[in-house]
Amino acid sequence: MAEAAAAVDWVSRFADEVIAEAQRRSPGKPVVCASGLSPSGPIHLGNLREVMTPHLVADEIRRRGHEVVHLISWDDYDRFRKVPAGIDASWAEHIGKPLTAVPAPPGSRFPNWAEHFKAAMIDSLAELGVDYRGISQTEMYTSGAYREQILLAMRERGRIDAILDRYRTKGRTGPAPKQNAKLDAADAAAAAEAAEGSGAADEDDGTASTGYYPYRPYCGQCGKDTTTVTGYDDATTAMTYVCADGFTETVLLSEFDRGKLVWKVDWPMRWAYEGVHFEPSGVDHSSPGSSFVVGGQIVTEIFGGAQPIGPMYAFVGISGMAKMSSSRGAVPTPADALAIMEAPLLRWMYARRRPNQAFKVAFDAEIQRLYDEWDALEAKIAAGTAAPADEAAHDRAVRTATVTLPRTPLPVAYRTLASIVDITTGHDEQTLRILRDLDPERPVTDLAQVRPRLDKAQTWVNTQLAADARTQVRTEPDKDLLATLDDDQRESLRLLAAGLDANWSLEGLTTLVYGVPKVMAGLPPDTKPTQELKVAQRSFFVLIYRLLIGKETGPRLPTLLLAVGADRIRTLIGG
Ligand SMILES: [Zn+2]
Repeated sequence: MAEAAAAVDWVSRFADEVIAEAQRRSPGKPVVCASGLSPSGPIHLGNLREVMTPHLVADEIRRRGHEVVHLISWDDYDRFRKVPAGIDASWAEHIGKPLTAVPAPPGSRFPNWAEHFKAAMIDSLAELGVDYRGISQTEMYTSGAYREQILLAMRERGRIDAILDRYRTKGRTGPAPKQNAKLDAADAAAAAEAAEGSGAADEDDGTASTGYYPYRPYCGQCGKDTTTVTGYDDATTAMTYVCADGFTETVLLSEFDRGKLVWKVDWPMRWAYEGVHFEPSGVDHSSPGSSFVVGGQIVTEIFGGAQPIGPMYAFVGISGMAKMSSSRGAVPTPADALAIMEAPLLRWMYARRRPNQAFKVAFDAEIQRLYDEWDALEAKIAAGTAAPADEAAHDRAVRTATVTLPRTPLPVAYRTLASIVDITTGHDEQTLRILRDLDPERPVTDLAQVRPRLDKAQTWVNTQLAADARTQVRTEPDKDLLATLDDDQRESLRLLAAGLDANWSLEGLTTLVYGVPKVMAGLPPDTKPTQELKVAQRSFFVLIYRLLIGKETGPRLPTLLLAVGADRIRTLIGG
């Protein structure tokens, strides 16, 4: 993107700010953007904003020719907190162990719980074109990478405790962040799920009856963090802890690598360690006394670093699937979204909304409207009439500084593709026949021309369209209904049957079905629709739907007609 396009959208504005801050703070070094994800279970689609916000900003910085790295911290050394729905209750015996020490769900090909749930996210990030460097916190902690920082935090535990104390009274007891008040029950539940996977659910700040210690060891006997530090010697780094199971030992923290800093200290420690310039956080991290706010004090006062630029991002909800999935205990993941929409569409949703704007990812019929909006934008861009901000969002959706995302060469409307696969139940030959007839000027001659969009629409029909919303073309004419028709109805059906062959395209059939009621009313074809004419058209359409599919509504009529085929239409309407 040219420098002239700078500041046309929120991404550009953050890029300006982050580049300036990085140059001030660490001149000559790469810009560092960061995200954190906890593979405590399926990574919720709501958590994708944690990645997409820094991804888009880092990508803009890279487009401008600066060196930049996007770190994704896998918080896989966090404790296993609860057994998600759908997993055998016996997994409860692992609660308290690091996520990398918990067995993977049955049947998994991955060595442990964290790797299993990371894998799906890694695949989705690749499909989305997200360029990042993953960091396993298990690897960092168990290799001793943070030893100096841990010793420092323990030495300065009194000061850390005092910082935390500034916020303890006014912290979480205040009113819930405004954002959540606007969420409906389903979204609030989903937001809680998302927060669960973001570290925010961990309220433990290191306070215990034995004193304040910002470090928690995993037990040498049971491997769990049900431990309490009972003493620490600053001079020797000898630390004594007891576990809930009775196990106790004294270790030298200068040599010990089986434990981690509590979340509120761990996060700012990593800001300093990695030199993070930009890391957004969810609304759950940003209330007074929350980890982002407290972390800002701890990173400067204890670790000698600086708080990153950290916009709060609003929750991303789900329409449609949340309700369907909550019944089977599943959460929608980025992979679920990518199964029904192309990567550029999903990227576009994040690019066009400022981080503090909430939005929903549509799993219901709204996805068709979203695709219409996308196609309209592409048409505007082709015509050179798109607004600069819209053009920027589109450009961020379809490519990154390093890759161009796969596109559907001939983007037939998603709603049309969905109708066709609904009617043909995904039969390739029939699908191709209908697509060939859609637009005789630009006929589809190979299904590859409409892929991957066709496959996404097919998955949407198969997984999201309720059984009673599916279209089933009648195999036999509805003789009872045909017997009740009056002369006008018979005549309009005769006009339809007679016009099929000459109008066999999406455009032609559209003109035909709207035109028949005009002819019946004795009006010329170019008549402006009056209220009366609209009523006549509607009742004509209902009649056709009832005769073809036994319902009063269905896919758009011209699409349905093309799908059913002229001979079968004539049979079903009594021609
Ligand atoms: Zn133990």
